[in-house]
Amino acid sequence: MISIKIQQLTKRFGAVTALHQLDLTIEPGELFFLLGPSGCGKTTLLRSMAGFYIPEEGKILFGDEDVTRLAPHKRNTGMMFQSYALWPHMSVAENVAFGLEERRVPKDEIRRRVGEALESVRMGNYADRKPNQLSGGQQQRVALARALVIRPRCLLLDEPLSNLDAKLRLEMRTEIRRVCKEFKLTTVYVTHDQKEALSVSDRMAILESGRILQVGTPREVYKRPTRKTVAHFIGETDFIAGKVTGILKDSATVETAIGRFDGVLGDPTCPPVVGQEVTLSIRPECWELSHVQQTPQNSVRGTIGGFVYLGEVAQYDLMVRDRVLKVFERNPRFVDGASRGELFATVAPEDVVILVG
Ligand code: ATP
Repeated sequence: MISIKIQQLTKRFGAVTALHQLDLTIEPGELFFLLGPSGCGKTTLLRSMAGFYIPEEGKILFGDEDVTRLAPHKRNTGMMFQSYALWPHMSVAENVAFGLEERRVPKDEIRRRVGEALESVRMGNYADRKPNQLSGGQQQRVALARALVIRPRCLLLDEPLSNLDAKLRLEMRTEIRRVCKEFKLTTVYVTHDQKEALSVSDRMAILESGRILQVGTPREVYKRPTRKTVAHFIGETDFIAGKVTGILKDSATVETAIGRFDGVLGDPTCPPVVGQEVTLSIRPECWELSHVQQTPQNSVRGTIGGFVYLGEVAQYDLMVRDRVLKVFERNPRFVDGASRGELFATVAPEDVVILVG
């Protein structure tokens, strides 16, 4: 297992700076996701790790080895991209064997290793098929076997599941995690799909305009975004503007147009001061609805303006003064009387994230 260290990496394409002095350490054996809006630099970072781009400044280390200027084929990375790019005229086994033949591995060893790689992705029985005789998910498993068979130092995956339908994506993301952990492979995974990142990553980085905004475990990033852009990018949230009226170590009280809230600081390293304008981020599932007011703080009074019933959850538009707040209720009970009367929605202080930037 190796770590991957990115130090002060800058990559430009003409006038566009795709990566700005980026620093990042991916731990040995970690399944690490790169996430962010289109054009933020995810693919550029991954391709720089693979060796397809040579950065203008900075270093890339695999373990202690500086690979910044090493040719792609000398880095020994396993790669898997959006399109499976299997050779259509070759059988599954021949596709998987290709990388080993290039490396002039003896024939007996190739046969054994191809068999093992196909078994590891549960495709042992399909060795003689041609790619066009396989489903999308099966082709993607073969692409994974092909990446694994060379015994790579790390695995680099660029939107590997985006061509698959929703059900197969679910199945394959669990499969990719299983394989990465079984092979103890440091893996970097680029995706647009936040559910994919939240459900299978050990940690993730959120990028914007070639810079890293936040690195953390899925729960850290979801529950404690450090900035508005992160809170907005991951999951749904409402932003409420307010002014700080009191501050403790990691928490503060904020006065807003819809009431007073106790909350936690998104970034305790950069605390606001009393009187400062801040933004609260409250996720729709954090509100609790009730007919009576539970507490004077962290509670709003409103009426339901509209709702979407989805079975296990109802999504309400809660009209609070001149605002509309999104409120999700699991096991919905308030839908039946939704058009009638006033309701209270309460949120725990740990679910109110106070953001400065
Ligand atoms: P997406 O999610 O849409 O794939 P991304 O986050 O992977 O986006 P990159 O492909 O890394 O983003 O692109 C980062 C920036 O660099 C973008 O502004 C893009 O237009 C630019 N860029 C990427 N590759 C090239 C290239 N070969 N030539 C010129 N500009 C490029």
